[in-house]
Amino acid sequence: MNRLLSVQSTDDILPAYLNTPIGQLLEYHNLNRPFDNYQNARLLIGMCMDNRKHLHMPDNFAFIIRAGGANLRYSEFKVSYAIAVGGIQHIALIGHNNCGMVNLISRKNEFIKGLVETAGWEQEKAEEHFMHFAPMFEIGSETDFILSETKRLRLRYPKIQIAPMLYLVEDNKLYFINED
Ligand SMILES: [Zn+2]
Repeated sequence: MNRLLSVQSTDDILPAYLNTPIGQLLEYHNLNRPFDNYQNARLLIGMCMDNRKHLHMPDNFAFIIRAGGANLRYSEFKVSYAIAVGGIQHIALIGHNNCGMVNLISRKNEFIKGLVETAGWEQEKAEEHFMHFAPMFEIGSETDFILSETKRLRLRYPKIQIAPMLYLVEDNKLYFINED
């Protein structure tokens, strides 16, 4: 966890992000900055679908794409839309600890049993479904995945500023992931 940089005052916001929508997100969420009024979104947030997370920020401030593990590989059109039509120039990519998209194989039996019993799937179809999709959605490690996904997105959208971040479910705070 020493790869995480905590933000407990504006001095802790990395200089590159100060006075950008990414820095403002940290001020709203971590530092209780009073909410400003927004007519248009300033930021795109990519974050996990996990139910334990809630961001403290003003209405209209951000687009949010929620997908398992904050994995935006299969949401590219929506990212492009937020940039091209929504006009955003900044992305906060927010993973979190204890993410269910890490070590998916350990939940294989639970996944299949759940689809069969809860959704009424046939055993064989449920197995095929898991084996087909689990490798696509497995993220390996929360922080490593966010860093590699940040690099990928920076190559894809070179004029957009992208910050790799982590949400700790224990304290509900946002942290920068150290890229050095
Ligand atoms: Zn997650």
